[in-house]
Amino acid sequence: MKRALLFILLVASAHGYAEDQTLPACDVLSELWVTKYYDKLYPNWEKEPLECAKPESELTSWEKVSIITARAAYVLDQTIFDRTNLPAEPILYYGEIKAPPASMLDWIYDRSDGIVYDLKTKNTHAERKRNGTGYVHLRPEDYHLDQPMEMGIGLAGQLIHESRHLGLTKYDHVKCKLPDTEGKNCDSTINEDFETGGSHAIAALWLSWIVTRSNWPQVEKNKAEETVRWVMEFRINESFEIKNEFALRYLGKPL
Ligand SMILES: [Zn+2]
Repeated sequence: MKRALLFILLVASAHGYAEDQTLPACDVLSELWVTKYYDKLYPNWEKEPLECAKPESELTSWEKVSIITARAAYVLDQTIFDRTNLPAEPILYYGEIKAPPASMLDWIYDRSDGIVYDLKTKNTHAERKRNGTGYVHLRPEDYHLDQPMEMGIGLAGQLIHESRHLGLTKYDHVKCKLPDTEGKNCDSTINEDFETGGSHAIAALWLSWIVTRSNWPQVEKNKAEETVRWVMEFRINESFEIKNEFALRYLGKPL
């Protein structure tokens, strides 16, 4: 019995089934948070070690917010992507194809001056101040505090979206032209690099890389794929043909 199991494991590894990537232990993440990640995201709450001693059921909302933000920072900084075999030609004739930057956390740091956890705002948004600084406003809803603590991939996507509005050149949405999207903010098209596209487009591109080119657990990939599909359907004004090509290329499936 044991030998058969070993054989299966050997065959599996010989076929290159990569192990899932996992988050570090809480104390390791806490150290990263205090020494590195906090200063990159610069949230409007105190820099303190993460609460690692309590079980999740006893954490306060604030303790959860810190942990989930730290997880998002880790996912942005440490996701291992398969960067080989990039498509040769962009889907759009004027586009470019690029792998994600080495650290999406640094990408956010280059664009955003900080996170404001904002209990008053109705919408998650990017705020540009007159002095040129820019902040990402997050709401409790972005943290889904009524559910088991998330791994941070969803929040990471939000941070990418809002940071894109702030820089390096500022970005504003266009009006949605899709069915059932009146009054909503869309991007005009998809994007295959991490610089020039719209906020929805770049966040969806990064999430697509999570789906097909990362080793995060399948349940996380499924959630990311759901988000990408939603963005394609309701937030990108591009033709179905182009969006479908994007899905085939980056999700490995049609829309
Ligand atoms: Zn936006």
